[in-house]
Amino acid sequence: MNYKTDIKYRKAVLKKLLNTIIIHENEIIKALYDDFKKPAFEAVLTETNYVITELKDTIKNIHKWAKPKMVLPSILNFPSIDYIYNDPYGKVLIIAPWNYPFQLALCPLVAAIAAGNQVVLKPSELTPHTSAIIAKIIAKTFAINHVEVIEGGIEVSQSLLKQRWDYIFFTGSVPVGKIVAKAAAENLTPVTLELGGKNPCILDETTNLKLAAKRIVWGKFINAGQTCIAPDYLIVHYDIKTEFIDFLKKEITLAYGKKPEESPDFARIINSRNWTRLVNMIEPEKVIFGGQTNESKQYISPTLIEEANLDSNIMKEEIFGPLLPILTYKSQAELHTIITRYEKPLSLYVFTKNNSFAEKIIQDYSFGGGCVNDTVIHFSNKRLPFGGVGHSGIGAYHGKMSFDTFTHKKAIVKKAYWLDLPMRYAPYKDKLATIRKLLKWI
Ligand code: NAD
Repeated sequence: MNYKTDIKYRKAVLKKLLNTIIIHENEIIKALYDDFKKPAFEAVLTETNYVITELKDTIKNIHKWAKPKMVLPSILNFPSIDYIYNDPYGKVLIIAPWNYPFQLALCPLVAAIAAGNQVVLKPSELTPHTSAIIAKIIAKTFAINHVEVIEGGIEVSQSLLKQRWDYIFFTGSVPVGKIVAKAAAENLTPVTLELGGKNPCILDETTNLKLAAKRIVWGKFINAGQTCIAPDYLIVHYDIKTEFIDFLKKEITLAYGKKPEESPDFARIINSRNWTRLVNMIEPEKVIFGGQTNESKQYISPTLIEEANLDSNIMKEEIFGPLLPILTYKSQAELHTIITRYEKPLSLYVFTKNNSFAEKIIQDYSFGGGCVNDTVIHFSNKRLPFGGVGHSGIGAYHGKMSFDTFTHKKAIVKKAYWLDLPMRYAPYKDKLATIRKLLKWI
């Protein structure tokens, strides 16, 4: 087998991976539950089915994506035929986070394989059950010199980063993203960094309050708020604040009941370190809903926090948990001050019926991607690039863009022998005026 050049082989092995995942789907769902009580519905929607869909799409399109693409030649090179070859980078390292531990490990892996690379994957140590099932599935599907899973924690990741790679794909936090970028720079290794940040969610006074509340509650509290593109904080127009908070409270109760701790649809905080970090962000006098915690169960209830201080603990860093601070604004200037206080976010959401307000927000601020009148769902369209900008990341993937991420675009001009125009060759004497005319004409 030659995965570098044999597209049929790549397709066959991706089909094998698809079958193995389907056979083991229940084990994956159980592993996700064992790791942090991820509800089965969310496990299917955001993990297994997501990967299965991506695999099917890749299998369907791999020949089209991989074949050399002919482009119009330059008249300067006449006569020639010009191509872009889709060349695998070679040895790829994928480092995955814990919050969508199956999807965020497997989706880049599928694309890297489709593009003809050899892959080493390091899943997150914080989700050991999912890490183990990933290792099992990969070992059943691939030869070890094609794809290998290396399980382990920070030390394993650090020792992998000391090796030389042809491409590194990292998903995780901003501080570790910087460590990865530094390690990659040693060998000028190209990287994709899928990072995080503080994602603002803006509501103006024209918003449909009930639907906005429903969509924000879903996007914020899915995975117990441990989603890189979850709304991190709300900036609500002062005039609608009180009414909107009432809608938020109602929607939380509708989704998770009066006791979210007993809801089968609400996940847990991944570990006690993150639980403590989150609990330390809660200032009890600012809590207007929720605020219940249980250390032994690593539980924190969906919590609304009235916040006016940009220097408070909760506004200093990405929250990554079920705490939702609500800030208000009265003027565009106030809104601007809040948004620009932070690095460029991975996502931004704006809820409004005023199209020109939405357009202004989209055009005025730099962020990875987002939605008007919804949250999180831009992730699900494979035709939209998914990635950050500035501190929220470098590069983007999903759908064909994932294949392109793991492909070096090799430019080739195939020149014919039957004609050789003498203009470009030295000596250049008496040719300058003619070349100027020619270049203008082109
Ligand atoms: P993390 O950065 O702590 O860990 C990610 C990976 O890096 C893990 O595999 C871990 O073992 C490894 N790692 C951790 N510390 C390291 C170090 N010092 N040196 C080398 N490797 C190290 O992130 P996490 O806690 O797993 O995930 C949460 C973060 O990831 C959040 O900031 C979230 O916004 C971000 N995230 C981003 C996306 C995205 O697609 N942009 C998706 C999910 C999560």
